[in-house]
Amino acid sequence: MRLSEVQTGRVAIIHKVGGDGAFRKRILEMGFIEGKQVEVIQNAPLKDPIYYRIMNYNVSLRRKDASLIEVLLQSEEKSLNASQKDVETATFVNDTRANPFAPQREIASLTKEEGKKIRVALVGNPNCGKTSLFNLASGAHEHVGNYSGVTVEAKEAYFKHKGYTIEIVDLPGSYSLSPYSPDELFIRKYLSDLETRPDVVVDVVDTCNLERNLYLTMQIKEMNLPVVVALNMFDEFEKSQSKLDIPKLSQLLDTPLIPTVGRVARGIDNLFDAVIELASKKDKAASSVKIAYGNELEGAIETLSTKMEQHLDLSSHTLPPRYIAVKLLEEDQEIIKFLKPFKNSDYIFSALRYEQSQIAKRLGDKDTESRITDARYGFIAGALRETFKPHKRMLRSFTEKVDHILINPILGFPIFLLFLYFMFQTTFKLGEYPMGWIEDSVNWLANMVNGWMGEGPLRDLICDGIIQGVGGVIIFLPQILILYFFISMMEDTGYMSRATFMMDKLMHLMGLHGKSFIPLIMGFGCNVPAIMATRTIESRQSRLITILVAPLMSCGARLPVYILIAGACFGSSAGTVLFAMYMTGILLAVLLARIFRKSFFSKEDIPFVMELPPYRIPTAKSVLIHMWEKAKEYLQKMGTVILTASVIIWVLGYFPREEVLQERDAKIEQVTQSWNGSKKDLAETIQEIEQRANTEQQENSYLGRMGKVFEPVVAPLGFDWKMSIALISGIPAKEVVVSTLGVIYTGDGDDSDEAAEKLSERIRQERNAKGEIAFTPLVALSFMLFILIYFPCVATVVAVGKESGHYKWGLFTILYTCGLAWIVSFIVYQGGKLLGLG
Ligand code: GDP
Ligand code: MG
Repeated sequence: MRLSEVQTGRVAIIHKVGGDGAFRKRILEMGFIEGKQVEVIQNAPLKDPIYYRIMNYNVSLRRKDASLIEVLLQSEEKSLNASQKDVETATFVNDTRANPFAPQREIASLTKEEGKKIRVALVGNPNCGKTSLFNLASGAHEHVGNYSGVTVEAKEAYFKHKGYTIEIVDLPGSYSLSPYSPDELFIRKYLSDLETRPDVVVDVVDTCNLERNLYLTMQIKEMNLPVVVALNMFDEFEKSQSKLDIPKLSQLLDTPLIPTVGRVARGIDNLFDAVIELASKKDKAASSVKIAYGNELEGAIETLSTKMEQHLDLSSHTLPPRYIAVKLLEEDQEIIKFLKPFKNSDYIFSALRYEQSQIAKRLGDKDTESRITDARYGFIAGALRETFKPHKRMLRSFTEKVDHILINPILGFPIFLLFLYFMFQTTFKLGEYPMGWIEDSVNWLANMVNGWMGEGPLRDLICDGIIQGVGGVIIFLPQILILYFFISMMEDTGYMSRATFMMDKLMHLMGLHGKSFIPLIMGFGCNVPAIMATRTIESRQSRLITILVAPLMSCGARLPVYILIAGACFGSSAGTVLFAMYMTGILLAVLLARIFRKSFFSKEDIPFVMELPPYRIPTAKSVLIHMWEKAKEYLQKMGTVILTASVIIWVLGYFPREEVLQERDAKIEQVTQSWNGSKKDLAETIQEIEQRANTEQQENSYLGRMGKVFEPVVAPLGFDWKMSIALISGIPAKEVVVSTLGVIYTGDGDDSDEAAEKLSERIRQERNAKGEIAFTPLVALSFMLFILIYFPCVATVVAVGKESGHYKWGLFTILYTCGLAWIVSFIVYQGGKLLGLG
């Protein structure tokens, strides 16, 4: 029977894993090995993927992938395989330690090496609490999240512990050290390269999920790296009432095991005491644990490592020959690449081929890969059998109960859409209050300064250029914070993974991967980290497509523009328009991903094996850190890019001015002298002349001239030269569009009353050359769509180039987004006009 055919609620036993290459390896490593129990929990709303429980964690598999796994239903299995039952009959030694967090004994070697630096790398499965520990230990404020793929690159920090300087690095999460995703490869390189190799590896494990987590531990040990294991999530483990004989397990694995709680800072001191102790041991690396790979393989491993020792000069590298031999038998391409440049490597490769043929003869249909995985898991299972007693409550049934509602076949999608709708409405509505206060303060400040300073270019620069320009953008801070609050909640509770799970089928239809969903959602915040987050995607092609469409996700920088324009032109339906903008971005991303897949890339299937972490209540601290980080970023951008751009825009819009102003003054004088009507009429005429001169001056300025050049290009989209300037100015960062609008829509007069008028009011009243309202709802819509799609900011283009590995993709992104923006706005504007909407 196939796993995909097992009914919901049934338990099956894994018999054999089919498929090949990366898929098979990944599945094996995630614990789908012979003899393990799998329970079918639920189907996704679109019937695919399927939600399973294995080794006491939740994971989702696509139906197609699950069909490659042969299983036996439990009743059939009983007669065939009884080994699984061993676990229950094993004798168990109770954990004797009353308080697992109690300080351990003093470190003896302490004073001798005072001040010494120890390099520590944090590794572990995704979502086991590495970043939490990293932050606690170092006082850093990195972002934690309850789903995999949050940490995308190594983050470093220093701190002092008992007189030692500890340099700690937070690495991305990984299930194993097989080189299938860029992340895993990165970690492996990091751990083995002479330059980056840490003194001690802290392997963070989820204590509620030891069996799978220790798989990575064993691989690190095989690399002969000194390891301290942090038994993290120990609070959840204790709550589950399961039992673990820590000293015994520590002895069996020949590794210090230190209970920690990354959420509330427990056990951290013990952890780093153990690190120091291990670092000061002379023979720290020589490990007594050795996984036995079975007679058939051991012979080959032995032969290969001896041959390597004799014929290769491995002295400049850190990898032990035994490790290389195992990797060679696993046909690890990276290790093969690594060995190639060595002298005599051909000899080793031919020995490998010979050994492989021998193994094939002896093993029959059972292949080397699953042998090796089985042996590692077998070792772990053996150690746990003697030391670990699970309790029923370990099953994390709360999470599964909640999941029955949140990813319910009928309710799942409506709940998700409702949540998104609520998120955008709240962002808009709730944000309006603080936004109003900030706006009032900005205007108050501008008026104050206006009053203090004498007339002249400097006053104009400060009031119109800097205060209005930067102030126009800063008022969106509350909205940004609210949006990030929601995103952070989604990540920290674990709901984000459920969204991924539900979306996988749809993502798959568009030629992408469920894992592309998280980076795309992150794109709502900022496209740059979104593009970096694609590193969790194993398939290079899916990754590239995701990178290319990520800029279509409407980022936080575009939000101020929508809020301004939608608020000015759509009144009470602004929230809905906002929602529609985001949805349009998503739809376009779907469409383009399909087009890209069809035109540039071949069809390719990558397994979708995703862990569904247990639901957790987010800590206020983590949410606040996330929001504060974003606020800081935003304010920094304000002080740099936006300030500079505002000043440049103002200068370009202010000069040249002499000619027009002289002309104006001359005209006013002429009118005044020859005037013979009433005084009131004269004042009106003068005001008219001033207004005309203002407009003329703007048109005549450098900025105006630039806008005029581009006007013909954007005229079919309903934009005039002012809007075209705003678009040009949005290239460094989209928020600048708002500050540009603030600088160029200065209102009709310049008495202080009107300067205090809200920018949205000024935009609403703005008239074009023909005296018609410039921002009709149709123009506004066309404009917002253009903002959504065209030129992602410079930082994003750079990120595309960097992450895709080639700058041509950055260039391509610029071209396709600008082209697409023009087409979409054209269709909307011209179509709307045809329908009589404009
Ligand atoms: P990483 O992916 O390994 O970097 O993990 P994170 O540090 O981002 O943490 C993942 C999730 O687990 C977050 O929601 C944390 O709040 C939570 N978490 C981390 N450590 C613990 C712990 O010891 N106990 C509990 N209950 N939750 C934890
Ligand atoms: Mg992390």
